[in-house]
Amino acid sequence: MNRYKLLTPGPLTTTNTVRNVMNEDRCTWDDEYKQITQTIRKQLLEIAGVTEEKYTTVLMQGSGSFVVEAVLTTAVQSSDKVLFITNGAYGERMVQMANAIGIQHTQYETPYGEAVNASDIATLLQQDPTITHVAMVHCETTTGILNPIEEVIAVAKQHNAQVIIDAMSSFGGVPIDMEALQIDYLVSSANKCIQGVPGFGFVIANIDRLSACQGVARSVSLDLYDQWQTMKVDGKWRFTSPTHVVAAFAQALVELEEEGGVAARFTRYAANNSYLRKEMQAMGFAPYIDEADQSPIITSYYYPTESFEFTAFYEAIKQKGFVLYPGKLTDADTFRIGNIGDIHLSDMEQLVGAIKEYMGVQV
Ligand SMILES: *Cc1c(COP(=O)(O)O)cnc(C)c1O
Repeated sequence: MNRYKLLTPGPLTTTNTVRNVMNEDRCTWDDEYKQITQTIRKQLLEIAGVTEEKYTTVLMQGSGSFVVEAVLTTAVQSSDKVLFITNGAYGERMVQMANAIGIQHTQYETPYGEAVNASDIATLLQQDPTITHVAMVHCETTTGILNPIEEVIAVAKQHNAQVIIDAMSSFGGVPIDMEALQIDYLVSSANKCIQGVPGFGFVIANIDRLSACQGVARSVSLDLYDQWQTMKVDGKWRFTSPTHVVAAFAQALVELEEEGGVAARFTRYAANNSYLRKEMQAMGFAPYIDEADQSPIITSYYYPTESFEFTAFYEAIKQKGFVLYPGKLTDADTFRIGNIGDIHLSDMEQLVGAIKEYMGVQV
């Protein structure tokens, strides 16, 4: 049993039924286990709305960042050049990875509170015809802003650029029509909106694109192409796979379908988020992101007063059964509340009650 609910963007609150699956040890060589991997790979394609003819799924050990790095090191050749579009820590992390790998790149940055602008990107791409790839974050979990990937991808595709999307904190919780958008690589991980536990991430990749990446990776363990070549045969992972986590993820996918798929999950998350935004604002907590750009995943709030002590607030709310998330901004004092995971409107109501009590507002 959980002692409190995590209002964080991953690891997040999972169901007992997802966690219970981990009580059994499984063998990586066993057909039954390999079949679990193959089923997961198929289901992820369905969630992404793509066909098996054009797309494939590769699962990769590690946290989400490992998998973003696997895509960058495998999909970008030394003659390529990436445009990184950033407005938060996760976009900046991709730039840091590009520097470490030695990838040619350029960066288009907007302030953290501002969604990226597609027409600026169009200008940039026209000015630099050497750009071959565009990489960006969908929901920047740093602030909770939802970037307009549809518009930016349309511009990138006009320029014939390959598109890499970090949809870590949105995939499974926000509908993304991957095939219509022609996304080439989409990255997410087990412990976000699919509501599994942490331990691996996955890439949904355009088969033609990934097929051209043999021998490109400057890493052995992060070679997405090699991982794919092994996994696609029968579901066997290269190296030890996180068996407990994989089994829990398979159960999480069953539960996503039972809930009604991505559309239903999006509806639940959006209801959690809009209720919380409304109630928080009424209590004097102003959101950092404008409503039009706010994701249904996580919200950043300014401290309500200069004397507000986040640590005391955090401890008091934890006593009431909810764990909040500190802010990640340097220019403003903020904290964050995630509303993804096995979190329902009744939890949000209890949370609001606890915050009201702490703030001394009449309940
Ligand atoms: C969670 C997350 C990641 C990956 O973070 P890890 O700590 O490596 O799992 C990457 N991008 C975004 C937008 C995220 O929310």
